[in-house]
Amino acid sequence: MNREFNLENLVRPNVHKMKPYSSARDEFKTEGEKMTFLDANENPFENGVNRYPDPQQLKLKQVLASQKRVSVSNILLGNGSDEVLDLIFRAFCRPQVDNVITLPPTYGMYKVLAELNEVEDRKVLLKNDFQPNVEKILAEVDDKTKLIFLCSPNNPTGNSFSEVSVEKILRNFNGLVVIDEAYIDFSADKSWLERLEEFPNLVITQTLSKAYGLAGIRLGICYASAEIISILNKIKPPYNVNELTQHKALERLSKPEEVKQEIVVLLEERKRLENDLSKMGFVKQIFGSDANFLLVRVEDAGKKYEQLIKAGVVVRNRSNQELCENTLRFTVGTPEENNQLIKILKQLEA
Ligand SMILES: *Cc1c(COP(=O)(O)O)cnc(C)c1O
Repeated sequence: MNREFNLENLVRPNVHKMKPYSSARDEFKTEGEKMTFLDANENPFENGVNRYPDPQQLKLKQVLASQKRVSVSNILLGNGSDEVLDLIFRAFCRPQVDNVITLPPTYGMYKVLAELNEVEDRKVLLKNDFQPNVEKILAEVDDKTKLIFLCSPNNPTGNSFSEVSVEKILRNFNGLVVIDEAYIDFSADKSWLERLEEFPNLVITQTLSKAYGLAGIRLGICYASAEIISILNKIKPPYNVNELTQHKALERLSKPEEVKQEIVVLLEERKRLENDLSKMGFVKQIFGSDANFLLVRVEDAGKKYEQLIKAGVVVRNRSNQELCENTLRFTVGTPEENNQLIKILKQLEA
């Protein structure tokens, strides 16, 4: 496939024609002076959230831009990365016409969103070492392939994709390569964000749901070229990130040392869990992890899963996913929670 990367050809024609919806809060911005807002039919009595939130989340983007060394125009925020991923589908994939490529075993939302948007999901299984099969991926590409989803570190396998493989895909595919970096803060590998300017077809998603400890507020982040971001901006719901979320995210981002310290603890705990699990007879294989979970192959995963539930611990049984027969996925908890898990597993052994 030799067509040049051309964003205009990639975007859905209806989206290309659209102008962004202009909300009341878009049309008039204060420059510091005190204005009286009688434009948006809000209730004027102050309670902290009686006004619509900033539809462009400028303060939050400015903090992210400075922490991640990108520009505000390279950022789009969403109601979790799940919304960001859905916006990417809707901006680029024509229902019943286009296709995307995903690499199972991987995060389940890509498939759900493909189904929801009536877009063919071409699955190219990871290799046995859980690395992308680059030749097969590129062989699946045709002129209707709009997106390739790379989840790195990958959920549920925990490993990162090799830089060489990812770069080959970026260089040889003229659609968008979406790298889902939900777990990047737990990884020793560098984020692809550092190379954003090198690849016009690179889209990176991150989230405050994992390392930042804010799954409840729903904040997903998309980094891409200003051109890609402006397309996504055209179709996003105007107030998709609410005021409470923006407030809480700013508060957390202002305490990077706290986040870093929690990551240090979780990485130490991951190592300890790995070590304790490796001594158990029913544990057949522990897959190397760059994330805050461990994928573990055990004897009779279904039975172990039920026994853990009975003992009050919920883990994820990933056995029905390709290449993941008899595997459980353990999220790294607090030291106390991990002690509990280990204690129960030891009892199951006896
Ligand atoms: C948890 C997770 C997300 C997070 O999605 P949010 O909607 O931001 O909570 C995204 N991608 C992967 C691979 C995940 O495991």
